[in-house]
Amino acid sequence: MNAGADGPVRQFARFARFARADFFSIGNQDMSTPQRDIIVREVGLRDGLQIHPTFMPTASKLAWIKSEALAGVSEIEVTSFVPPKLIAQFADASDVCHGAIQLKDLVVSALIPNLKGAQRGLELGVNKLNYVVSVSQTHNLKNVRRARAESMADFKAIVELIKTLPKDQRPFIGAGLSTALGCSYEGKIAVSEVVFCAEQLLEAGADEIVVCDTVGYANPAQVRQVMKAVLGVAAHVPVAAHFHDTRGTGLANVTAALDCGIKYFDASLGGLGGCPFAPGASGNIVMEDLCFMLDAMGLRTGVNLDALLTTRQSMSESLSDLKLHGALARAGLPHGFVSTWEAMAA
Ligand SMILES: [Zn+2]
Repeated sequence: MNAGADGPVRQFARFARFARADFFSIGNQDMSTPQRDIIVREVGLRDGLQIHPTFMPTASKLAWIKSEALAGVSEIEVTSFVPPKLIAQFADASDVCHGAIQLKDLVVSALIPNLKGAQRGLELGVNKLNYVVSVSQTHNLKNVRRARAESMADFKAIVELIKTLPKDQRPFIGAGLSTALGCSYEGKIAVSEVVFCAEQLLEAGADEIVVCDTVGYANPAQVRQVMKAVLGVAAHVPVAAHFHDTRGTGLANVTAALDCGIKYFDASLGGLGGCPFAPGASGNIVMEDLCFMLDAMGLRTGVNLDALLTTRQSMSESLSDLKLHGALARAGLPHGFVSTWEAMAA
């Protein structure tokens, strides 16, 4: 790793400390940060834009990140370190990371497809690196052109690389279980396979497990079953949920995950999203709808809904061919609605 550059490494150390503090801060926050019961994480800049044919200008991406961070979203996956020849949308990954890490109190994460991606993440000072392995062997081959076992070996090498840094300078390393709730190539995925993969990733040193319904096959009963099984082996680290709303079950799946005690949820503004290697996949669950539902349930997200809707509006104006989803943006807030977070902060 090119750790010789003083600037990025110093910056990285500063933000890495924040990232670690934030991750374990639920229920134990100081007065300077908003109390949060649930952490919502924006993934639209990566998951949403990766299949979008038009390049979103770097300045528009940074404006989106800044606006959503100011609205109260505390973690944003800002890009992916895939080669630009594979996905041109991420050709500006370095500039987006540089800009995002200037923002105070934001956990900046990026998707890393391999060891090379991890090296870039470390050099740029990203707070958190998100690695993904598909539980479905076929999906893994199609997605990253490697066998699942090779992806697991690569993850071990990434953790070893991170361990070469002093402890207080290490970024978080998240491990996503793609297609954990169904695969468009293999169909049903056995729960035992999901648990097996989670155990392997934890043994290798994952700081977090993300259970992903990559192609939107999940239903709430299945989510309960899979989450309980994963929590059975991963109770010592944060376990997050990443749902797509392909078949209209996204928010129902969130409530099922909440029932299991899950506190971390991925979503994308306007429901942008999909997977280029999963035929039929559409958007992530809609960030605005997720935040509204959680807030209405009395769960504090730290997100100001009006500011989030404003962010959505400006983001939609930055590219003319974006197709946005979302019920809250269509219907507006209910008459007399009082945000849980704001009511408690008042
Ligand atoms: Zn996804």
